[in-house]
Amino acid sequence: MVERQLRWRGIKDERVLAAMQALPRHLFVPDQVRAFAYDDRPLPIGSDQTISQPYIVAIMTELLELKPTDKVLEIGTGSGYQTAVLAQLVPAVFSIEILPGLAEGAKKILATLGFKNIELKIGDGFYGWPEHAPFDAILLTAAAARIPELLWRQLREGGRLIMPLGEERQTQKLIRARKVGGEPVIEDFSEVLFVPLRGAIQK
Ligand code: SAH
Repeated sequence: MVERQLRWRGIKDERVLAAMQALPRHLFVPDQVRAFAYDDRPLPIGSDQTISQPYIVAIMTELLELKPTDKVLEIGTGSGYQTAVLAQLVPAVFSIEILPGLAEGAKKILATLGFKNIELKIGDGFYGWPEHAPFDAILLTAAAARIPELLWRQLREGGRLIMPLGEERQTQKLIRARKVGGEPVIEDFSEVLFVPLRGAIQK
């Protein structure tokens, strides 16, 4: 998976490649799809949600430009796979999941694998996690039509926010917004297809 789907397609950050190499992805997916755990595609994880394709996890992680001292906030824990990739690269990862069933599953597997630098919360990631702000990097693994304002406020100056930007069921672009003088400097990358961010943002 790492050689054919990631390195060959241009993922260069050796730390990201090593983190994904080390992680047993099959433990993060339900039994029925375990045989496909290392395939080049997203997979269902229950509750109409999906674990992202390995390449997308890799590119999003690489775009975060993580330093070994960074504090990261993830919105959409899902299976916990992306969380576990991040937790190998930085000392502290905070992750919020809106669906309790998925959050419980992620909590179990992350504990089994021995991660001690991850804090999980069940709730609407729209509000972020102000008690632990500011974050050096924020990753959303569900799509929204705009950058959620409260998350933007919790990003430190110079920090990076990565998200799929786009209306529901329309094409979304993976974007990186860097905070420069308080304002977003936006770059966009590949077209992607993510589940929508639910909760308060849809009201
Ligand atoms: N990173 C995950 C991807 C999961 S898909 C993985 O690798 O498995 C996106 C996840 O975002 C879903 O689990 C969904 O329930 C969650 N989500 C959607 N809206 C949310 C919100 N407002 N707050 C927190 N999580 C949310």
